[in-house]
Amino acid sequence: MLKCTCPLQTSTMLVFGGLLLLLGIFAFNSSATDEDALIIIPLPRALQPTSYELSVEVLLPPFDAGIGNVTFQNNGVVTIELKAIEETDKIVLNAANISITRCRLVNINGKDASTELTNITYDVPSQLVTIMSPFKFAINDTFQLAIDYSFVIRNDSCGMFNTPYQEGNVTHNVVQTDFEAINARRLVPCFDDPSFRSKWTVEVKAPIGYTVLSNTEKASDPNPAGPGFTLTRFNPTPPIPSYLLAIAVHDYPYLENVTSTGILYRFYGQQSKLDVCSEAFEFTGRLIDHLIERFKVVKFPSTKVDFIETERHPSGGMENFGLITLNAKIFCNVTDMPRFKNIIIHELIHQWFGNIVTMKDWSNAIMNEGLTEYYTELVVKELLGLCLVGTPSYYLWKYVEIPLEATYMTK
Ligand SMILES: [Zn+2]
Repeated sequence: MLKCTCPLQTSTMLVFGGLLLLLGIFAFNSSATDEDALIIIPLPRALQPTSYELSVEVLLPPFDAGIGNVTFQNNGVVTIELKAIEETDKIVLNAANISITRCRLVNINGKDASTELTNITYDVPSQLVTIMSPFKFAINDTFQLAIDYSFVIRNDSCGMFNTPYQEGNVTHNVVQTDFEAINARRLVPCFDDPSFRSKWTVEVKAPIGYTVLSNTEKASDPNPAGPGFTLTRFNPTPPIPSYLLAIAVHDYPYLENVTSTGILYRFYGQQSKLDVCSEAFEFTGRLIDHLIERFKVVKFPSTKVDFIETERHPSGGMENFGLITLNAKIFCNVTDMPRFKNIIIHELIHQWFGNIVTMKDWSNAIMNEGLTEYYTELVVKELLGLCLVGTPSYYLWKYVEIPLEATYMTK
């Protein structure tokens, strides 16, 4: 799904948004904030990030100072492995509302290094941070950059945000992420541009009692991480663009099964919804197998797909690699199951169209959404026997002629 709910994206995607508004399924927030002043400057191409090691701390009750407090800073550490494509002494990353507390080179061309980098400048309107190295990297040099920083858990639906749910008189705190199109930079300083694909290895420190999910399966059971906390580490992702990274910290119960093709899939949501969702859950297993057979020339690169409901979802669903988020108003809604299944089909097809093959630039979002809508209509007919004659999206998309460039997932 492509949508714009962060104020900053109003200016980012104004032209493209005009087309989306025609579809009537996307919402824009035009409220005036400082973020309306976003000035898009493309990242330099001198450096290529090959992998990220990301460790973040997510404070929830009983360590709840961070929830709903827009000034409270949670801590993160990211180590980025980079390769120089051109000679440069300048490292430019995207970052929004992030404070870097320490930055250093820890490894250069395979040799340990310990070089503190203190020449750091922020370009707030462009959401860029520039880190100067005391020496130039030559072409094909590789190095690791470690950054200690703090970030904010927000109260809207951008970046990492608080999205609680109510069960009777009990409020359950949940933290989730939504990074499309340019909001990964609110959780971690990174190359937040779909033309950069990198492997991500994520670990999350969270209070005991919460379940942590990310794009891949956890590498092992959560380990103790100080009084009251556990640390959950996940397997590396394949190379993905930053907007497909996802984290959820929650206490939802779940349904779980393995498809005939061996893919683990789960629904995470309120128990009352799971109780009435067995048919849609079973359908989803058949759907995963159907898509794996249908698109078999391109192997599905994950061993699991999780689906989790999101109270404050900015749209209907988001196709994060291996961790699909679904609007709570739609999730297991028995009064509109066709719509729920339609969105599941759409987000699963994105695992190929958008996630394995990704447009290089957001102006080419037709490559994600147009192809996904096209195959959604075919698969709805194949599995549900329905024709989506009322869905105008593909018919609009196919008349839009723009140059298309893509990035591809490689092992
Ligand atoms: Zn979509």
